[in-house]
Amino acid sequence: MKVLIVASALTLVGSCATPSHTDKLQNIKDSIVFTDANIINKYANTITSAELNTHVYKFSSDDFQGRKTGELGHHKASNYLKEYYIKEEVASPLGTDNYYQNVPESYFTDGIKSSSNVIAYIKGSEYPDEVLIISAHSDHEGYTEDAIYNGADDNGSGTAALLEMAQAFKKAELEGFGPKRSIVFLHLTGEEVDLTGSRYYTEHPVFPLHNTIANLNIDMIGRIDDSHEDNPNYIYVIGSDRLSTELHYISESANENFTKLELDYRLNSDSDPNQYYSRSDHYNFAQNGIPVIFYFSGTHDDYHEPTDTAEKINYPLLQKRTKLIFTTAWYIANNEKRIEVDQDS
Ligand SMILES: [Zn+2]
Repeated sequence: MKVLIVASALTLVGSCATPSHTDKLQNIKDSIVFTDANIINKYANTITSAELNTHVYKFSSDDFQGRKTGELGHHKASNYLKEYYIKEEVASPLGTDNYYQNVPESYFTDGIKSSSNVIAYIKGSEYPDEVLIISAHSDHEGYTEDAIYNGADDNGSGTAALLEMAQAFKKAELEGFGPKRSIVFLHLTGEEVDLTGSRYYTEHPVFPLHNTIANLNIDMIGRIDDSHEDNPNYIYVIGSDRLSTELHYISESANENFTKLELDYRLNSDSDPNQYYSRSDHYNFAQNGIPVIFYFSGTHDDYHEPTDTAEKINYPLLQKRTKLIFTTAWYIANNEKRIEVDQDS
């Protein structure tokens, strides 16, 4: 109904002028309505600081030896993810209890051994072939003789967010509010070695890429960087407007309705010297024309140091940021139409 009203409004002005860019943006903004906000809130609130804390502590513990791609510690970490999905009864798209997409040794250089992406999903009830991928890399830097690189922020924080969102979407499904589109929870290996797990996935997609409607990628969302010490209620949002204007405004609307964080876009600038848009796994999806958002809370003194540990994570903020991603994902998975790609950079 909303679409029809918009279309006729356009017709009225269309006889003497095409709708201005401003009108088009307003139409996109107006079309984004969270009609089931109470239901979304109910499940968003099952994402708790305490459970995120438990996952980050476990995932960044010495047991997993810094989770270096191809090594025992990373295999153990992958098994932790698999066991979690089995326990939560979130299925694998690869067949019963086989949550691993093996990335062969030939994909890696420098003697790195084979490793796996871990994939779980909830099948959509109305458009099961259309797929939203939420991703976070599971690997990190390993250990030396002197120290273990625990990687609590990088990327225990993103991993914990994925686990909590999967649980929340599963609970919603069991109570009659399953997603209309399929949602994939993708834990990528080899991010720290040239984004290899995501490159492998996009070259061997489990779901066809032309039906992969968006990728929300999370890499380090648990800390506060130097420029936000006085205003920590923020997250960097990168890439949201590069391929889909609609995705950008869905993200803004989700934030306005549910989380009210400062969405900081400074790292999304084409001219930003850090070029984060091309620096984590979402980039392999974007290069295939799939709209992406990269969620990030910035670097810090412990970045890629053995001191990136679990007690330094801000868990209430991690919870709030996870809720932003969850509510954005909810909209994308449940809206009447799949999001539109209208940009080409
Ligand atoms: Zn990372």
